[in-house]
Amino acid sequence: MTGDTPKPEASKSHGRLSISASLRPRELMAEPQVAGAWTASVVTLFPEAFPGILGLSLTGRALAQGLWNLRTIPLRDFGLGKHRNVDDTPAGGGAGMVIRADVMDAALREARQGPPCPVICMSPRGRPLTQARARALAEGPGVTLICGRFEGIDQRVLDAHGVEEISIGDYVLTGGEIAAQVLIDATVRLIPRVLGNQDSLAEESFSIGNRGLLEAPQYTKPAQWEGREIPEVLLSGNHAAISAWRAQQAERLTKERRPDLWRAYEDSLRAASMDPAKDRQLSGASDQSRSYREHDKEPKR
Ligand code: SAH
Repeated sequence: MTGDTPKPEASKSHGRLSISASLRPRELMAEPQVAGAWTASVVTLFPEAFPGILGLSLTGRALAQGLWNLRTIPLRDFGLGKHRNVDDTPAGGGAGMVIRADVMDAALREARQGPPCPVICMSPRGRPLTQARARALAEGPGVTLICGRFEGIDQRVLDAHGVEEISIGDYVLTGGEIAAQVLIDATVRLIPRVLGNQDSLAEESFSIGNRGLLEAPQYTKPAQWEGREIPEVLLSGNHAAISAWRAQQAERLTKERRPDLWRAYEDSLRAASMDPAKDRQLSGASDQSRSYREHDKEPKR
């Protein structure tokens, strides 16, 4: 079964079945660890960076329980020549190196075995990662992620595979591994049963229950700490008053810190009031913001 492919050890599995000593990585990959579980396949020059932080706490426990699967596809295994080169100098000149299209193509063909799922390249020039995108990904079968290094990746292989580019923010990292872990973490925690208490998803920042706004400040014991008190309303036991306070704080914080989210929220309220068929509150809460909604569509295949 493994003899007909040139890179028999190309894929490494993480999670429940990876502890089985009798199975080789390639065999684990050919047989999804837990059939049907959400799977992240990650093409990377640094497979040892995985599962990394994802192996700890709630995501780690869920990985061990088979609630999701992680496969790494080491790009180096598809490199050329004695030194397994994966990169070359940029066409047109300039600094740094670019990952070759042919090398990345071979790794992607390996990564894309299994049920079809979105192929995403972590990139500072991608569309920003949003909670809504994570939600959509969590509802699908999984994701194939490409971690870039050096100056980036030959555009032709991204075009050929219909790759969507996603950024985790307006700054430049040295590689896509941390960004991929951010995307996987944001997505995996939305898979049912991964969080101990699913209720915590209902009203957090960007959630529908929180109208797509930022979450209100949190407090816990002691009631007095170094002369600072917990806002009185939170100790009142009056649930309606607490809800109103939290809603008002969510609005205040969003207005102050995220005018972009606030504008989108106001727009959705306006749209709802112009369309009597729409429930005002639900529309206001719709997936984080209207302006982000375009970003949330699956890329065309
Ligand atoms: N020359 C590129 C930056 C390359 S950084 C440019 O100017 O746009 C090397 C790799 O790190 C990228 O290929 C990407 O995979 C990853 N990376 C860097 N910043 C990132 C960000 N903000 N979000 C997601 N991935 C990022």
